[in-house]
Amino acid sequence: MAEELRGSVINGYLKYVKKSWGAEGLAALEEETGLDHRKIKDGQFYPREAINKVLLWISSNHGMDRVKRGGKATAQDLGLFKYLVRWSSLEHMISRAVNIYGELYKYGKIRAWYEEDRVRIEMEDANRLREDCYAWLGAFEGIAELTHTKADVKEEECIFRGGDKCVYYLYLK
Ligand SMILES: [Zn+2]
Repeated sequence: MAEELRGSVINGYLKYVKKSWGAEGLAALEEETGLDHRKIKDGQFYPREAINKVLLWISSNHGMDRVKRGGKATAQDLGLFKYLVRWSSLEHMISRAVNIYGELYKYGKIRAWYEEDRVRIEMEDANRLREDCYAWLGAFEGIAELTHTKADVKEEECIFRGGDKCVYYLYLK
């Protein structure tokens, strides 16, 4: 199956780029990556390379922390999106994580469950760039915030640090 993701994710990041660095920033990104935001429809699927280009543009021009913040902004934006359930609680999100992820991505796998005072999230084949790992850190922060959950989010295992998958924890406070 082709490795594709929903246009709404790409548009979430492009919106973040425009909000952070203005129409000029977005134009610079489009020139460097060959993407055209007017051609990216929320409901359609696009090759994984498209999001790679966006994340790499953000990190190389503005640093990895802005990738993380882009992930957070995009997750919060998608939380209001019609494809997803209304984000009533973190518990609900966790129980629906596989379905929600599957609505957006045609590659990789997510598993998430509660372990007493924390949530463990495992991601396989979802991350290819270090940027992806940072983007998910931000996304989980965004989800916690949107569901009014106080939590520290950490990536405790990572494919870029010898792990066979990326494992995140939401330490509930
Ligand atoms: Zn990772």
